[in-house]
Amino acid sequence: MKLYSTNLQAPEVSFETALIKGQAPDKGLYLPRSLPLFSREDILSLKDKSYPEIAFLVLCKVLEGEIDAPSLKAITYDAYNYEVPLDKLNDNTYIMRLDHGPTASFKDFAARLMARLMQYYLKKENKKIIILTATSGDTGSAVAHAFYGLENVKVIVLFPLTEVSDRQRKQMTTLQKNISAIAIDGKFDDCQAMVKQAFSDEELKHLNLSSANSINIGRLIPQSLYYIYAYIKLCNYPEEIIFSIPSGNFGNMMGCVLAKMMGLPVKKIIASVNENDEVPTFLRSGEYHKIVPSLNCISNAMNVGHPSNLARLIAVYGGQMDEQGNINKMPDMERLRNDIYSSSVTDEETKATIKEIFDNYGILIEPHGAVGIKGLADYRLSTQDNTLAVALETAHPAKFPLEVKSVTGIDPKLPPSLKEIETKEEKMDFLSTDYKKFKDYLLTKIV
Ligand SMILES: *Cc1c(COP(=O)(O)O)cnc(C)c1O
Repeated sequence: MKLYSTNLQAPEVSFETALIKGQAPDKGLYLPRSLPLFSREDILSLKDKSYPEIAFLVLCKVLEGEIDAPSLKAITYDAYNYEVPLDKLNDNTYIMRLDHGPTASFKDFAARLMARLMQYYLKKENKKIIILTATSGDTGSAVAHAFYGLENVKVIVLFPLTEVSDRQRKQMTTLQKNISAIAIDGKFDDCQAMVKQAFSDEELKHLNLSSANSINIGRLIPQSLYYIYAYIKLCNYPEEIIFSIPSGNFGNMMGCVLAKMMGLPVKKIIASVNENDEVPTFLRSGEYHKIVPSLNCISNAMNVGHPSNLARLIAVYGGQMDEQGNINKMPDMERLRNDIYSSSVTDEETKATIKEIFDNYGILIEPHGAVGIKGLADYRLSTQDNTLAVALETAHPAKFPLEVKSVTGIDPKLPPSLKEIETKEEKMDFLSTDYKKFKDYLLTKIV
């Protein structure tokens, strides 16, 4: 696999390099030059297989020559040791629940596979790295859990002490071992700034600092696998399928684009967003404007005014967008509109959808999943297209108990993974926003 940068100013690299580096030196995002194309036989042969088996067999082709099969098999089975339910709403609508992983959000799918692949390459080269990550909640816990107990990696998570929920904090502070949690007396932006400064600090070079953020191609490839899984379980080739994806930085949606590029018969990709509607506006008008600052909606993991993966989407459709969000070459808008539909959903509509799904089907969903379901309803209303569709539920309702309870009256039950942390001992360090102190901490406490 050869990967190029969306800014087109950096040399092509191997998968291993893209995975360990994260971002290209020209500040662009890595994309595979080509992907394997799955035939009818390939897709049919997966019919009765389990999630980890399908993941392994697909990845064997995608990562051919990048990793040996026995190691890849061990990695996928170890990463995907939880259920991926497909809840039926009616004959042509399903909800795929991606909320059964250890931190109860879909980010587990990507983080767990990426962590194990990184560990594989680091071990082979006998290298060690430190993953530094700043978080406002979900990403930090998914990344910390994904790397937990792995030998060649230490993880340091910085989070704003007063801006994360008790539950989110406990997901990071009760792990320990190779995971250090630092509570910062500041805001998320302060944490982010400290991490960025550390990355460019020459005196910290020997620590091998790396990031595991959402622009890493190692997080995108795993996100193509559940689309293939849902198709195999629900459709007979060459029937078509529609996916509705609650989107913020559009990494999840890019996973679906990759699956389509590999030959999955995806008729329409619905990118459902909250009131941050820069993408539906762009698709409609052909003009792109970031939303600064982004709007605060109850689907808070999607409060994004400039999606980091948009540059990738535009590249796949023949255009070029730089890291600032300027479009230097327009993509093929006609093909883009043909493949992708995008709808903006208000908080009021989000709440009404949570209530409707509970009243009509007895199924509890949370705000992000509700945005996906409403986006699908908008699409069906405007097109009368009743092709089989799968809406993704990206988090467990127990992560958003207040919003869910206020409209359904139900207090969502904690999944076992979240319940465990309630009684575990917390351990964290406290630091101010002073970079010098943070640097001393890295140099003295972590080695
Ligand atoms: C991160 C996140 C999203 C948005 O996913 P993107 O890949 O950034 O579009 C949606 N729902 C939940 C619960 C998330 O944590």
